Amino acid sequence: TTPPEAPTQRSFVLIKPDAVRRGLVGAVLARFEGKGLRIVTMELRQVTGEESDQHYAEHVDRPFYPPLRAFITSGPSVALVLEGDEAIEVVRALNGATDGRKAAPGTIRGDFSLSNRENLVHGSDSPESAAREIAFWFPGLG
Ligand code: ADP
Ligand code: MG
Repeated sequence: TTPPEAPTQRSFVLIKPDAVRRGLVGAVLARFEGKGLRIVTMELRQVTGEESDQHYAEHVDRPFYPPLRAFITSGPSVALVLEGDEAIEVVRALNGATDGRKAAPGTIRGDFSLSNRENLVHGSDSPESAAREIAFWFPGLG
């Protein structure tokens, strides 16, 4: 017998300023939509320094954080919530490894990024992170 489908999951995704600048928003969204994930909400957002500090709270003391903060606030991003079966893990797999130079071909970063910082997309890394990030970026979402 077929086991019941896992309860649907939500992931927070940020399409970063490099992707918007390079005209890759459509290409990135096509990966997620093509996979079968559903867009719950989506908005063009200019991320502020304070929003960056909260979103990347786990990284604020890292040496790579100041240039990451400058990058993430450097132009508009697209913030969205995706929904689907195992959405959190599926989004991370579609995104690929953090470093675009090492990310596997076929992944978003592997196909479009040559950088460890300018890597086009963020995806929540756990159910706890997803809950925190969705509540932070889209407080009105039920
Ligand atoms: P991920 O986005 O894959 O979850 P991390 O949470 O480790 O990666 O890092 C958050 C973001 O910080 C990365 O997506 C990338 O933009 C940037 N970053 C991480 N590590 C480095 C690094 N060593 N040098 C430059 N930028 C980095
Ligand atoms: Mg991370």
